Amino acid sequence: MTKEEALQEVAKRIAACERCKYSPNQNPVPGEGNPNAEIMFVGEAPGAKENETGRPFVGAAGKFLSEMLNSIGLERQDVFIGNVIKYQPPGNRDPLPDEISFQLPFLLKQIAIIQPLLICFLGRHAMNALLPELGLVISRAHGQLIEKDGQHYLPLYHPAAALYNGSMRETLLEDFAKIPAYMDEIKAKAE
Ligand code: URA
Repeated sequence: MTKEEALQEVAKRIAACERCKYSPNQNPVPGEGNPNAEIMFVGEAPGAKENETGRPFVGAAGKFLSEMLNSIGLERQDVFIGNVIKYQPPGNRDPLPDEISFQLPFLLKQIAIIQPLLICFLGRHAMNALLPELGLVISRAHGQLIEKDGQHYLPLYHPAAALYNGSMRETLLEDFAKIPAYMDEIKAKAE
């Protein structure tokens, strides 16, 4: 099975997961991008636009994410973009801990298939879902490369938080600008 086929299998399981849905007939948002991506971006949960389209980060925050990718010479199709939670929570509320623990295996499977060199967290919820034992605080951890069990991670602020906050926007762009050098560092270590 190719990575693409394996990812499609996961997407099918997400679509069939009745317990994951907050309302019947809700669109799943499994994530999308390059099955061979070296970099994976993980957000929290889909919002309204994502729920409508079944695609991750297609609203205002997504537009800013695309801009930031372009700022380091990347396109959306070069990377994989996903979320911890695969359906839009009601009223855009934060996902509950048991919803996160129930849905997390889908993301872990996607990571295992793609085997990205770097996982970038978009916001503290994604960071805490994947690395709960590190007790990280986003205001200190953002922009700092983390290595755990041979996997590299980069916590970033959530692009939605930067939409109406100029200084956070600058911080996010600065943190993004570190990605190419971090990738060189990760690749040099792997040699
Ligand atoms: N915010 C997220 O965390 N994920 C999306 O897909 C869109 C907005």
